[in-house]
Amino acid sequence: MAGFDLHTHTVFSDGTTSPEENVRLAVGAGLDGVALTDHDTVQGWERAGAAAAASGLEFIPGVELSAELEGLSVHLLGFWFDPANAELAAEMERLVDERRRRAAEIVARFARLGIDISLDRVGELADGAPIGRPHVAAAVVEAGAAADVGEVFDRWLRDGGPAYVPKYAVDPVRCVQLLTAAGGVAVLAHPGLYGRSETARAGTGLPTRVVEELAAAGLAGIEVDHPDHHPDQRISYRRVAERLGLAVTGGSDFHGDRKDLHVGQATTPESALTALRSRRPGAGPVGSAPLAS
Ligand code: AMP
Ligand code: ZN
Ligand code: FE
Ligand code: FE
Repeated sequence: MAGFDLHTHTVFSDGTTSPEENVRLAVGAGLDGVALTDHDTVQGWERAGAAAAASGLEFIPGVELSAELEGLSVHLLGFWFDPANAELAAEMERLVDERRRRAAEIVARFARLGIDISLDRVGELADGAPIGRPHVAAAVVEAGAAADVGEVFDRWLRDGGPAYVPKYAVDPVRCVQLLTAAGGVAVLAHPGLYGRSETARAGTGLPTRVVEELAAAGLAGIEVDHPDHHPDQRISYRRVAERLGLAVTGGSDFHGDRKDLHVGQATTPESALTALRSRRPGAGPVGSAPLAS
């Protein structure tokens, strides 16, 4: 299956595979290209770019930023931006710093619940990646307090659970503006998954009003094709994208063996990638040569 998987994670965030592995899996899936969209970091870009160049595959440099609006978590994918852009770099650094501070708070909560894990060990498990709940959960499993990560989430770390601490998040409109000002494009990730309950795969979805607000701020695309989107959601968000003149993207949200998904499970066709690329600030009209990355 040809096309581009515009949403994959590695060990540089909460995935379990290396950047090279994602490229290898993309080649195996017969894709034309693959993006890395680790949470709040671009650490995997260089290695994935080198591996892709060696395999004749296109590498699309990306990120997934955590935003929040009115208590609703909103994820924004960014592509082709300049990671050295001062304002964006400062915001990403803050996201990573705040994750560390939050991890310390979560560790303290576990201590109060009688489960002793060390922040140092959590940091080791993250191995330089921005610290996420899965890393804390792994430390809890190591400490023998639960059989597996799933149990840790069910008992303590799920949203609103006894050890849960919300994370710092940026305003989604600001995310769109930052990514665009840094020469990139912003894509709304999995709009159908917000407002998800404990049990359901898909959620009630992001209100159209919010999508319109992001579009007004310069949003370039919507991730319509996500494995967890209900077919009806794909139809309705595709309509929203058409109405607002936004590119329609697809990606697997691959997380290695943390989620039962594979690279290439959802893809973006070449035409949509071209439309997305043409939304880069300074890019010419659709069909013209893309800017060098
Ligand atoms: P964080 O960004 O630190 O809040 O962590 C979010 C990550 O935790 C998600 O990307 C998932 O990988 C993982 N996660 C969330 N809920 C669960 C769950 N119920 N079971 C296992 N992993 C989960
Ligand atoms: Zn993730
Ligand atoms: Fe996400
Ligand atoms: Fe993701």
